Amino acid sequence: MATSGTGGAQGRPVRKAKPPQTHTGLVRQARKIYRELGEVYPYAHPELDFENPFQLLIATVLSAQTTDLRVNQTTPALFAKYPTPEDMAAADPEELEQILRPTGFFRAKARSVLGLSAALRDNFGGEVPGNLADLVTLPGVGRKTANVVLGNAFGVPGITVDTHFGRLSRRFGWTTSEDPEQVEKDVAALFPKSDWTMLSHRVVFHGRRICHARKPACGACPIAHLCPSNGIGEIDPDKAAKLLKYEKGGFPGQRLNPPPDYPGKAAPPLGAS
Ligand code: SF4
Repeated sequence: MATSGTGGAQGRPVRKAKPPQTHTGLVRQARKIYRELGEVYPYAHPELDFENPFQLLIATVLSAQTTDLRVNQTTPALFAKYPTPEDMAAADPEELEQILRPTGFFRAKARSVLGLSAALRDNFGGEVPGNLADLVTLPGVGRKTANVVLGNAFGVPGITVDTHFGRLSRRFGWTTSEDPEQVEKDVAALFPKSDWTMLSHRVVFHGRRICHARKPACGACPIAHLCPSNGIGEIDPDKAAKLLKYEKGGFPGQRLNPPPDYPGKAAPPLGAS
C-alpha cells in the first residue's frame, strides 16, 4: 500500500500510504493500523487513576480542559476525603473548590461534581449506572464521559472521541467529520465492537506521544508506512525523536499508579512536578 511521494513538511521525499479507495480497503487499513498500534503500545490503558466506577466518572468530568496528569495528582486527596457519592454530595462547596483548584475551572468543576454526586445518590441509590441511557441523564455527563466509564469500569465496548481520537481518525482517513458523534459512527463501522475500547486507548496513546496536534513526529512514527498523512509533521528522524512524549521520550507517564506492564515511570504526586 505504501507509495513513494513528495510533500513532506520540509520538502523531503516521504513514503505516504495511498488512501484506500473502497470501504473494504479502508476497513483493512484501519484494522492494520489498530494491530500495529497494538505492537507499539501493548500496554495501552486509560490514563486516569481510578479504583471504582464512581472515581472514574468523577476523574473523567474533572479532566475537561486539563491533563490527565493534573487530575491524577488531584484525586487522591479528593477521594480520601469524599469516598462515596453521598460523601461528595454533602461536601462543603468551598472545601471542595480548594481541593479541585489544581485542575482549573475549579468553581464550575466543584458545582459539577456536587450535582453529579447528588444525582447518583438521589436517582441511582449511590451507584454509577452501567448503561449509556442512564449515564447521560447525569448532569455534566455526555457521550464521551459515558463511553469512558462504560468501556473501562463496566467492560461495555465504547469509542471515546476526544480531541486526539478525532484528529487521528481524520489523519488516517477514517472520517472527514469534526463532529464527535459522527466520528464515533464512522469509526464504529470499521471495527468489531469488541475492539472499540482498546482502539480508543491505542489511538489516544499515539496522539499523545507521537501524532501531536501541532508537531506530529512523522519521522519517528512506527505506523508512518500505513498513514495517508505521513509527512504533515517533522520527517527528520532525529528531530522527530525529540518530539516524543511520555515513555516514548523517556519521560514519566500521566498515572501515579500505572498498570504493572507500563514500561515508563509513574507520574510524580502533586507539588513534585
Ligand atoms: S505522526 Fe505522521 S505518520 Fe504518524 S500517524 Fe501521525 S500523521 Fe501519520
